[in-house]
Amino acid sequence: MNVKFLGAARQVTGSSYLLESSGRRVLVDHGMFQERAVEWRNWRNAPAEARSVDAVILTHAHLDHCGLLPKLVREGFRGPIFATAPTIDLAEIVLEDSAEIQQEDVEFKRKRHQRDGRTSPHPYDTLYGPEDVRRTIERMRPVRYGESVEVAPGFEARFSEAGHILGSAVVQVRARHDGSERTIAFSGDLGQWNLPIVGDPTLIGEADAVIMESTYGDRDHERTVDIETQLAEIVRETVRGGGNVVIPTFAIERAQEVLLHLSENLLGGRMPGVPVFLDSPMAIDATEVFLRHPAFMDERARATIASGRLQAAARWVRLCRTREQSRSINDHRGPCIILAGSGMCTAGRIKHHLVRNLGRPESAIVFVGYQASGTLGREILEGRPEVRIHGRMHDVRAQVRAILGLSAHAGRSDLLRWLRGFSRPPKRLFLTHGEESVSLAFAERVREELHWDVVVPEYLEEREVTA
Ligand code: ZN
Repeated sequence: MNVKFLGAARQVTGSSYLLESSGRRVLVDHGMFQERAVEWRNWRNAPAEARSVDAVILTHAHLDHCGLLPKLVREGFRGPIFATAPTIDLAEIVLEDSAEIQQEDVEFKRKRHQRDGRTSPHPYDTLYGPEDVRRTIERMRPVRYGESVEVAPGFEARFSEAGHILGSAVVQVRARHDGSERTIAFSGDLGQWNLPIVGDPTLIGEADAVIMESTYGDRDHERTVDIETQLAEIVRETVRGGGNVVIPTFAIERAQEVLLHLSENLLGGRMPGVPVFLDSPMAIDATEVFLRHPAFMDERARATIASGRLQAAARWVRLCRTREQSRSINDHRGPCIILAGSGMCTAGRIKHHLVRNLGRPESAIVFVGYQASGTLGREILEGRPEVRIHGRMHDVRAQVRAILGLSAHAGRSDLLRWLRGFSRPPKRLFLTHGEESVSLAFAERVREELHWDVVVPEYLEEREVTA
């Protein structure tokens, strides 16, 4: 069996691996490149001719893992896409959103060029449209955790809990050829142990080769006080002062985690009963998907849902799907909590809430996720006295807080813990899905601690999997 690294090689996004054995081709993930410097790769032709790919295995619904699948379908892929049921439902939300954003970007660019009297050397085109997304979702086949499925002749895949987002999977792929057999374990994106909602990452017994993400291969997440307590404290203080709590949040997983923590706090009487506005159609859709798939949650979350406690907390939660509902938050008198996207404040409704709250010393902006450098979120978090939103400068007088420890990604210790779960070293470990310096540093760490053969592959590098 051969593996070709089509993305997430010495950078983070664009996860995609092409497996070939006995003339059959299987893709594991086919994600979008999101770092500016490598975005052009999204426009390259499919890795192998799209028609020649027999099947796709999808580890989870994040855009950097599924974002180019509709393009593959547009280019002629006609095989099945295997994923868990929550991954299929979440991928539909993520891909529809992506098609919409691409269309908006193209329109925006066309108008700007028109205004400036320029013409673009490139056609005003999107990678794919809503119709390609629909045809992609139609190709998806649900797989359960623990189940082995034949994805293509000679290829078998087994999905298990990865603990990253709902439905995320670690996948073991087995390829048979001329009486011999090779196995590769794909970590997908690994979560931390003891995250709310999802279970813990599954340890894999053995494999000939392992392909693992290394996003946080150089550090561990800080977690001093538990998250629910941190949230309760901030809300109590802010409400006492008469301000609003504004939480920029990612629509999938983080929004549901924060909602769960807020619900527990409200029901436990640890914070005052103020309205919680969920101002994000995408997060509302994702929350509905979560509630449809309790079987993919950990025991505690399942019990919370079964007990009816969440329904009891729902009386504080106001869902804002339409623009009118979103604007109506401005009419609310008295303190409230506002969850809105995007998670790094780069777009979306959160910007309006920031405009209204940044200048108020009694309000709090609470970060619950990673803020990449260059984003508005990062500027606020770093303590800039003023920031630009919608072309205007705004003073930052609100409290700026960050809740530590919330990450859907395994930290360095978690990554090592997952590797130690193998009963014998694989022939080779490939580290992907990390900034180059981070993956290289983690490779060194694994060599020192476990004495494994570790490779950090290059973009488009090809390797044979040996036994
Ligand atoms: Zn992910």
